[in-house]
Amino acid sequence: MIVCDTHCDVLWTRVFHPETAPVVTPENLNEGGVSLQVCTLFAGSGGPEKVPYETGMKQYHEFCRMVENEHWLQAFSPLEAEDGKSKAMLSMEGGEILEGNPDRVQEFYDYGVRMIALTWNRENEIGCPAKAGPEGHIKETGWEILKEMARLRIAADTSHLNEAGFWDLIDKHAHPPMASHSCARSLCDHFRNLTDEQIKGMIRRGGWIGINFYPSFLSVTGKADAQKIAEHIDYICQMGGAEHVGLGSDFDGIETVPLDVRTPAEVPHIFAELRRRGYRETDIEKIAGVNFLNYYRRLGWE
Ligand SMILES: [Zn+2]
Repeated sequence: MIVCDTHCDVLWTRVFHPETAPVVTPENLNEGGVSLQVCTLFAGSGGPEKVPYETGMKQYHEFCRMVENEHWLQAFSPLEAEDGKSKAMLSMEGGEILEGNPDRVQEFYDYGVRMIALTWNRENEIGCPAKAGPEGHIKETGWEILKEMARLRIAADTSHLNEAGFWDLIDKHAHPPMASHSCARSLCDHFRNLTDEQIKGMIRRGGWIGINFYPSFLSVTGKADAQKIAEHIDYICQMGGAEHVGLGSDFDGIETVPLDVRTPAEVPHIFAELRRRGYRETDIEKIAGVNFLNYYRRLGWE
């Protein structure tokens, strides 16, 4: 079975919190059968005023060291997940790393970045975050950057983006957008989660949603387990999204983890829970990874 996880902060943890042992390791990925782990270059929490480009590059250089010296394999296409070996693919979280320069999209494409979260929790040259409220459209520079992303078939990630920006992408972006690590707001009312309307918009447009494992996004109690993750997946499936949902753990970027899904090695617990709910094997395979690869096929990857 192909298993894809579309967001983790192992690079940030390794560079900026070396005292913390990351849970995203080749051993855990292999044990959990994760075929493709997306590892993000995080802009840092300082926003455009800090040094997002340098911050991103430090993580890229760490990734290069991991590929060179450890048992990490880099995927330059999401479809490399199909060859059965655990691989890591780069993404970007916080478009301020591009410093408002559309030419930088090609630079990061050359490094292997195949997904860009337009904002993190701070306003940048591209748009505004959900944390600041629903208002504020995609900016002119943002559209120039999005045009480059579409040309290079880089996925536009709306996790952290505000509602106005989200709908701009649904209505006007050349490609269907995605949300790499977000949950359903109807099940857990948090600004980082997607409203029913947003989920429907994503399904209608041919997008994709990766369920975040952060207990605070899964449940208002702040406690969660594989059952809770399956509940969010099931909710989206019930809305007609059985081909548009999957996994976006946020491992190494979250302060707490679900009780029985603490590392990538325990990801199969989610599939066991879906089986318990009566999901067929073919449907579980779609959720585990096929949906994500099909999403990239819609962007033109083959
Ligand atoms: Zn995030």
